[in-house]
Amino acid sequence: MKNIRSYNIEDIKKILEGLGEKPNKSKLIYYWLWKKNVSSFDEMINLPENIIEHLKANYTLNKVIIHSQQKSSDGTIKYALKLYDGNIVEGVLIPTETRMTACISSQVGCSLSCKFCATGKMERVRNLDYWEIYDQVCIIKEQALLHYNKDLTNIVYMGMGEPLLNYDNVLKSTQMCISNDGLGLSHNRITVSTAGIAKMIKKLADDDVKFNLAVSLHAANDEKRSRMMPINESNSLQVLEEALLYFCNKTEEKVMLEYIVFDNFNDNPKDAEELSSFSQRVPSKINLIEYNSIGDSEFINSREERLQIFKDILYKNKCTVMTRRSRGKDIDAACGQLANK
Ligand code: SF4
Repeated sequence: MKNIRSYNIEDIKKILEGLGEKPNKSKLIYYWLWKKNVSSFDEMINLPENIIEHLKANYTLNKVIIHSQQKSSDGTIKYALKLYDGNIVEGVLIPTETRMTACISSQVGCSLSCKFCATGKMERVRNLDYWEIYDQVCIIKEQALLHYNKDLTNIVYMGMGEPLLNYDNVLKSTQMCISNDGLGLSHNRITVSTAGIAKMIKKLADDDVKFNLAVSLHAANDEKRSRMMPINESNSLQVLEEALLYFCNKTEEKVMLEYIVFDNFNDNPKDAEELSSFSQRVPSKINLIEYNSIGDSEFINSREERLQIFKDILYKNKCTVMTRRSRGKDIDAACGQLANK
């Protein structure tokens, strides 16, 4: 059976025409599928019985469901989310005073093998379909209301997988999150984070996307970056810089440079100068991220005094800098820790 959610509204009209029904009921079906994100056809209560029976007999919804969950002492909740084929991905609800953020996955596993990342130690199994990405957001939205009585405010594509290697599904899922047929979220509440696939960053610019773009930079020096992130061998810093400049020029937006600060590896004054220089060339803000050990990694989090010197150099160079404290460390839900544990 085919997944009805892979059909657009015109396809649904054709299904209805085949049943001798008025095509305008397609809007109702679409509303139940996306706005209400129903879990079964029986929930489409204002549709005639014969249409519901036809949909049940011929189509699936292949919904994502919560398999298990863990709550951190800081309120962060990590969800193991089960896909229709039994694969599991992880999504995280990150509550703060002012925001309810869903961190969601775009692939089962990941092929990029970043050395500091737990997901990178898993094989890439498959891409998520766009309705599976959308389901994650809807589940976490429901959970935000349930646990905190607050609506979802932000979505970050920073969970398992490289979003730009699942380009079409990621784009369609963002469109559904933004569309009034879906969640109706503002585009500037959505951030897609990439390890730096230069060709696809240019494609984002050509496709005139409106969401925020973040890049996992972690070093502004090819030798160091390649040691952590094998993708740097085929997408060097120079190639990445060209793609980011192309993106910034075309979209007239800044990008976020994500930088996990590792002790005695990329937190030296020279690293800070290199990062400043990269950030001065590419319209950007810098987000310094606390590292969470994944047990067997050669990397550890930078020490407070080294981090302060690092930051002072960035400030001296007039960079825009933010610091992101880790959330959900105790349940392996923090940045780089998602690996179905
Ligand atoms: S950091 Fe992102 S791109 Fe790198 S291995 Fe982990 S999930 Fe994949």
